[in-house]
Amino acid sequence: MPEIPEVEITARRLGAALSGAEVDSALAPGMVTMKTVKPPLGALEGRAVEGVRRIGKMPVVEFDGELSLLVHLMSAGRLQAFEERASLRDKRSRLLIRLADGRELRLREFGTKQRAWAKLLPAADVERDEMVATLGPEAWPAPPLEELAAAVDQARHLHPMLRDQRVIAGIGRSWVDEILWEARLSPFRNGAELDAEEVEHLHAGLDVLGRALEHYEEVIGATVPDKLPMPLRVHRRQGEPCPRCGTTLEAVHFAEHVMTYCPEEQTGGRVYKDRRLSRLLK
Ligand SMILES: [Zn+2]
Repeated sequence: MPEIPEVEITARRLGAALSGAEVDSALAPGMVTMKTVKPPLGALEGRAVEGVRRIGKMPVVEFDGELSLLVHLMSAGRLQAFEERASLRDKRSRLLIRLADGRELRLREFGTKQRAWAKLLPAADVERDEMVATLGPEAWPAPPLEELAAAVDQARHLHPMLRDQRVIAGIGRSWVDEILWEARLSPFRNGAELDAEEVEHLHAGLDVLGRALEHYEEVIGATVPDKLPMPLRVHRRQGEPCPRCGTTLEAVHFAEHVMTYCPEEQTGGRVYKDRRLSRLLK
């Protein structure tokens, strides 16, 4: 799942590759991909790409004439530039923006579900879009300490709360484990019960996002690969020793995600039950 480091490196590489390129045509093979009808995709014809930026986990492609394409990759979408046009039989294609120089900007989605979407909006409307207007502060660069403290002062568990884009934008199922491990905080801690020092640890934990981005800047060339070399240290590494203290990392499995943590440093030695099993036993 692309989160801030992955979407930011994608936006940087695409922006560098595509800025100035003119659109020849655009079409959406994914029947449910476009969530807007006005302006139509055809409005992109003849326009130049001005740049690519990121809001939370969403890439935004800017075109001249004040048009913006807001993209939500969901869990399996990828936005990539290709030297040649895709075959229309490529079932992964959701949106194709064909450039006059023969290249193509392609929104693809892995897996069978069609969940990734895009909106073509007048540039001035992007900040007002419901998916953007409801976002919390960006997780990277980290918000000021007081802003983070206010955002997480809620009676909710940290793990789901930090993945809630309305609380803080850009964190998902992978990096939340890394952030909480860095901060030595339990995924089950109640946000409203954090003391000042714990909020400081959480704030410092957000640095993993910037470090991941630095890693991508070093290892990723002009083209972002389908599968990014994510520098994860604990997420999905249950059964392996904690990289800091050597205790065996534990995990709780949910229907669609896995929460990995170090029991020694994060949960006071407590090992939590597998949620899949407890649901079956009910
Ligand atoms: Zn540990």
